[in-house]
Amino acid sequence: MSAALRSAVRDVVDFPKPGIIFKDITPILADGKLFRESISLLCATAGGAKIDKVVGIDARGFIFAAAVADRLGAGFVPVRKKGKLPWKTRQTAYTLEYGESIVELHEDAVKPGESVLLVDDLLATGGTAAASVKLLDELGANIVAISVLIELEFLAGRARLAPHTVHSILIY
Ligand code: AMP
Repeated sequence: MSAALRSAVRDVVDFPKPGIIFKDITPILADGKLFRESISLLCATAGGAKIDKVVGIDARGFIFAAAVADRLGAGFVPVRKKGKLPWKTRQTAYTLEYGESIVELHEDAVKPGESVLLVDDLLATGGTAAASVKLLDELGANIVAISVLIELEFLAGRARLAPHTVHSILIY
């Protein structure tokens, strides 16, 4: 795995609030070779399994998930923050560091038994991914794996997603 990919992640201290070190992935997106490499590595996490839908999490997850879906020949499905999806939705609330948030999924976005790869840019506490998993479980999706570019291991998000398989490309 490329050291260049890791060194392209920019740490932004105290964003969006004091005490947070924000992992800025825009330098990866802006570099054609690195962006392609990140997509190749995320695609490899599917392990050759047939994927019907790649599900991306609002909003940076969309960038990676859509490219992965195209590469795998799969459909793309967005999990969105509340109030953005126009059709019938399922929603679930989850806890943030301060307060609550709600994510939504279209009811017909995934059919029962379809194989799904859930993709986001970064796994922190795992709350967002766990809420997305809950919605996908309700629709009867077969979650092949949860794949993220960056995992903040010290926040133990992976444990919240058990027994699902979690793949990360860069671990901090
Ligand atoms: P969590 O629900 O705590 O796992 O947070 C994951 C979501 O918040 C992801 O969609 C990330 O894009 C974003 N996020 C959380 N912490 C950071 C961070 N330190 N740097 C960049 N994005 C973050």
